[in-house]
Amino acid sequence: MLERIRIVLIGTSHPGNIGATARAMHNMGLADLALVAPRGESRSAEAISRASGADKILHHAPVYDDLESAVADCRLVVGASARSRTLPWPMLTPRALGERLPAELAEADARVALVFGREDTGLTNAELQRCHAHVHIPTNPDYSSLNLAAAVQVLAYECRLAWLAHQPTDATPEADPAPAMPRDAEAEAAKAAASAEHEAVFGIAWDHPPASHADLERFFDHLERTLIALEFHDPDKPRQLMARLRRLYMRARPDQMEINILRGILSATEKKTATRDPGES
Ligand code: SAH
Repeated sequence: MLERIRIVLIGTSHPGNIGATARAMHNMGLADLALVAPRGESRSAEAISRASGADKILHHAPVYDDLESAVADCRLVVGASARSRTLPWPMLTPRALGERLPAELAEADARVALVFGREDTGLTNAELQRCHAHVHIPTNPDYSSLNLAAAVQVLAYECRLAWLAHQPTDATPEADPAPAMPRDAEAEAAKAAASAEHEAVFGIAWDHPPASHADLERFFDHLERTLIALEFHDPDKPRQLMARLRRLYMRARPDQMEINILRGILSATEKKTATRDPGES
């Protein structure tokens, strides 16, 4: 489970913070670090020294131009934020985030991203609006902003606690290895795990996996294009329309089939608007 939790650092300016993040992750058993447009040399001597033996994570960390590319394959994206923003967004405590992870990550190809912002300005509104939920580490309200790597440490620790709580309690190193499962039983067990994941995410056994971040972004692009063509949305006077629609759809956690249906409706709408007689009202 821990290997499928991605820590994403956006626009980090101090290489030392990237190194200290790698160390915090390695301490807690996390390994998937992604960097988005770092503003310093991410593998500098200072970064390697602060990683203190966890520099393998630094060397393996891919660098992306934007948040979307860094989290395209993730089904749940959570942004860490030191302060509240103008548009209220679903909020998680660090503990509640950890407790959700075993279910979110029950299926072998499911991935979750935890996104952290710049040392000086945090995450932009546009970046925060690409997250399903935000997580705030409760701090002194008069001095709420933690050092970046310290914030990663706190959330990585919650991930580890949640993972430890899900380890089988009766497993001892001396115990006999479990007899090999026949292939059919293995497939059945995988199906049961997947269904348990969806049950935990959606509250009931579900038929399709949650849509990935890339699926959602393609849908939001398509929705915006269609609303512009319908003259419902004026990008010069956005009035937070797309932010509110993002919040609505992400709160619903659409599954892959539902996103396909919504995209189909948009395509049908586009077809009608393109062929409509301009005199029609
Ligand atoms: N000055 C910035 C804070 C930057 S701290 C601001 O006002 O937004 C760098 C990053 O660490 C933040 O973007 C956030 O991802 C994380 N962070 C710091 N303190 C946090 C807190 N109390 N809760 C959650 N994340 C926090």
